[in-house]
Amino acid sequence: MSNIQEHIEALRSELRTHNHNYYVLDSATISDYDFDIKLKELQELEAKHPEFFDANSPSQRVGGTVTKNFETIKHAYRMYSLENSYSKEDLLDWETRIEKLIDGDVQFTCELKYDGASISLTYEHGKLIKAVTRGDGFQGDNVTANVKTIKSVPLQLKGDYPETFDIRGEIVLPFDGFNKMNEDRIEIGEEPYRNPRNTASGSLKLQDSAEVAKRPLECLLYNLTGTNLGVTSQFESLEKAREWGFKVPEVAKLANSIDEVLEFINYWDIHRHNLPFETDGVVVKVNDLQQQEELGFTSKAPRWAMAYKFKAEQVSTRLNSITYQVGRTGAITPVANLEPVELAGTTVKRASLHNADQIERLDIRVSDMVYVEKGGEIIPKILGVDLSERPENSKPTEYITHCPECNTLLERKEGEAQHYCPNYNGCNPQIIGRIQHYISRKAMDIDGLGGETVALLVNEGLITNYSDLYELTKEQVIPLERMAEKSAEKLIEGIEQSKNIPFERVLFALGIRYVGETVAKKLARHYKSIDAIREATQEQLENVDEIGIKIAESVCLFFTSEENNETINRLKSFGVQLEMSAEELVGKTILLQGQSIVVTGVFETISRNELKKLIEDNGGKVSSSISSKTSFIVAGDKMGPSKKEKAEKLNIDLITEAEFLQMVSMG
Ligand code: AMP
Ligand code: ZN
Repeated sequence: MSNIQEHIEALRSELRTHNHNYYVLDSATISDYDFDIKLKELQELEAKHPEFFDANSPSQRVGGTVTKNFETIKHAYRMYSLENSYSKEDLLDWETRIEKLIDGDVQFTCELKYDGASISLTYEHGKLIKAVTRGDGFQGDNVTANVKTIKSVPLQLKGDYPETFDIRGEIVLPFDGFNKMNEDRIEIGEEPYRNPRNTASGSLKLQDSAEVAKRPLECLLYNLTGTNLGVTSQFESLEKAREWGFKVPEVAKLANSIDEVLEFINYWDIHRHNLPFETDGVVVKVNDLQQQEELGFTSKAPRWAMAYKFKAEQVSTRLNSITYQVGRTGAITPVANLEPVELAGTTVKRASLHNADQIERLDIRVSDMVYVEKGGEIIPKILGVDLSERPENSKPTEYITHCPECNTLLERKEGEAQHYCPNYNGCNPQIIGRIQHYISRKAMDIDGLGGETVALLVNEGLITNYSDLYELTKEQVIPLERMAEKSAEKLIEGIEQSKNIPFERVLFALGIRYVGETVAKKLARHYKSIDAIREATQEQLENVDEIGIKIAESVCLFFTSEENNETINRLKSFGVQLEMSAEELVGKTILLQGQSIVVTGVFETISRNELKKLIEDNGGKVSSSISSKTSFIVAGDKMGPSKKEKAEKLNIDLITEAEFLQMVSMG
């Protein structure tokens, strides 16, 4: 092996281990920053030496392949369904059937039933060869490129794995990641995803694997399939799979009787609410693989396994009223206000009714007794109406026709479920919502100004759009509720400071529908100024990498409004950055934006002042003392021992001069 090849292999192996520690074992053994440095190094080497390409290199996890049509692949072993049970009696009946077919004692493995999208992974010589969806059980879609981006799926196994085998599991989207995705959706005016399961299975069929890579999916494994697997029981196979590098939840337990199975079920019926991902039941399997083979399959499911479905918790309560909320984008959401009721450990007072169609389909009326369920959805959902309790004089719900806030006639576009208030510039929640978005942390990050103050300023008639912020005076602000001289000063100062925020963030802050952080960056870097974007035609916009029709349309629409153009001109006149600065254009970056960096020690190739300038040129902040806010430390020779100790205590990364220089030159 050549030196370079050895180096590439060593990097791959190291990154693989860190990935496994982080995504499978949940314990990080490297900082994100160091990981990125090593990954970049690997990517560069691989680019320079295509002869050492490996489809299963950790560098392949970032995705990038686009699949237009997913190839259909036959499963080597059929993917069966599971039989369902709902009670102790069902389980005892099952046990009796088993005992008739086999001799000897039966032990059971109990596992959770993960609620996501099933997947079958094929490994040969320890490498992931393909990933196929369940499909109809006989054949499914080849989604290998997408599955490779899921970090808990090992691309290369370790230990004494069989030469070839299939392993089955479930691809899930943990709640945290799901909620985060929804926050981002709401921020750009998209409807949030309804539940993690559908979002997980939808993700597998995305055409662009780089998009899949951004989604925090996980793969939980539960079944080994093949010949000569070297295991004799289900429980053992779970342990082995874990050793080879797969993510197999640790909750699985052995049970010697149906009573012990029920203990497991009862425990998890309560504790599942604390799990990071969704479960809809328990799967009980005959543990001994020899016994499994004797039991075999029915036409649909194995005889040796049984799903036990948890009851989704459900209650009925009175619907007191329906109110309508207006979002930042003008979207109307009907909300059910309920008589407060306990459900799955929380008090439920409200439920989403989604849209007009939903209300009509379920014929939901005020004063009805409605069934409420907390299932996969985060927000409780109304399943239906108890008609026997319907008051005699009840009338069907008439959906509002006018905006509850500004009384404008609502619109509903063809093919869209939501009604919208079109009064973009005159509807209070839209005005307030847009300004709140403008000042928010990821946008203009205005210190000293919060969402409630924005509402006050609008309601007092002091501002009607975000450009008005720049004309506010201290004297106007002081009389507001909970304002004082000091806080008013801070607010004005914060607004002033926002004139330094770089163009790409300003573009995001404008709140153009579908223009989220990433899209704003793309557009800003491509066009370099608001005027160039304004002049672009829809067709030209669509031709920009990763800008689709929906975004292009929305951007054009934004600039057709006289008022929007006026607002932008005003922002410009106040000195807000509406084009890339000269520095950005000549290669300065925002690589270190938001980072607070400490420089300490003696440097070899560069002076301390030059180093500080480099940090600032890349958008970072130089700070003189180490604190919990420090992002990292550039450490030269002779770093003081007390500083070293402090950095260790706060777990702050130290990087060398050379590493830092590499980092900024890569920006
Ligand atoms: P069903 O779709 O209701 O027939 O249930 C069968 C599905 O449950 C299988 O296709 C698996 O994708 C899924 N499942 C989730 N967790 C497990 C588990 N621990 N063992 C077996 N199957 C599971
Ligand atoms: Zn309105």
